[in-house]
Amino acid sequence: MKTLAEYKEEIHSCSKCGLCQSVCPLYQITGNDCTVSRGQFIMLKGLIKGDLKMSPKINRYLDLCLKCGACSKFCPSGINVVDIITSAKAEYFKTSRLEKFISFVQKTFIFGLGVKLAGVFSKKVKSKKFDKKVIYFGGCSGKLKGNKAVINILNSCGIEVITPDFECCGIPFYVRGDKESYTSYKKSFEKIVQKYEVKEIVTTCASCEKTLKGYNIGGLEVRSIFEYLRKKELKPVLKQKLKVTFHKPCNIDNFEDIEWILKNTQNLEYIEMENFDKCCGLNGVTKISEYKIMSEIFKAKHKDILKSGAKIVLTSCLGCEAALRLFSFGKYRVMDFAEFLNKYAKPD
Ligand code: SF4
Ligand code: SF4
Repeated sequence: MKTLAEYKEEIHSCSKCGLCQSVCPLYQITGNDCTVSRGQFIMLKGLIKGDLKMSPKINRYLDLCLKCGACSKFCPSGINVVDIITSAKAEYFKTSRLEKFISFVQKTFIFGLGVKLAGVFSKKVKSKKFDKKVIYFGGCSGKLKGNKAVINILNSCGIEVITPDFECCGIPFYVRGDKESYTSYKKSFEKIVQKYEVKEIVTTCASCEKTLKGYNIGGLEVRSIFEYLRKKELKPVLKQKLKVTFHKPCNIDNFEDIEWILKNTQNLEYIEMENFDKCCGLNGVTKISEYKIMSEIFKAKHKDILKSGAKIVLTSCLGCEAALRLFSFGKYRVMDFAEFLNKYAKPD
């Protein structure tokens, strides 16, 4: 994690063209330049120069940013907005007792005790043996849901799955600016991986995948489960006809694989909903005090889902899944794509 000052050059490369405004889901609601990268960079320049002091007001704008990265993909200067805003958040974190307390509660009770307790009741199965082996990084999602879907899918590809007991990948702490916790999760991951000769890690969650790739551990391959299905050209057949739509998580970098499976699954009608790639609104630090803005984003997504006519919404990120469920009001079912395939596809 670089410091804010280390991003000085990159921040200066912002030409203030304002193109980011047209794609930022937050700016589209607030119309406030401080909620989009262009305005944020003006604030951050002030902080680096010493003209501005870090304050709760600046922190509010840092928190509001969804870290969706939509602006970066559109930015002519190719600025890595998410990492820059996160580094500024880390500056604030150092000064705020409240942030540290929230992080402690998250680490100890939500991602620690809570996930562990929930994991006691999740179903775990044993993998079949094959020559080809991969390690499954379940993280929180694997603890909560068990490993059945992953093992069934990978076994059907002729791959054995090793399932160590990993902790959270650390992304909730990364976006909060809690460097220490993020680093401790990274170290715990490294320690577990070192025990195995296998250096291929598979995940079902786009956010875990992105975080593990960001660890930059030499010799380690991090892959999504959908990559294996596509490579094997396994075309699932559903036990019944189903109509689905898909919400694309911001952190995904292998949507082509998912799209290929969606289009090549028999008995599956895939409807591409409008704005399928627009952020769901869950940025990891969503605050109740910002409920009004966040609910605008949630409501827009809800409308797009209803318009698609599908009764099942698939996604591949635990955070997105939680956010979509929050506003589903029983009108449609939200499912993880791997779980969906495991439940509805015919076994080979
Ligand atoms: S699109 Fe990029 S260069 Fe243009 S204002 Fe936004 S951040 Fe700056
Ligand atoms: S990361 Fe997303 S929410 Fe944040 S400034 Fe960029 S487009 Fe807006």
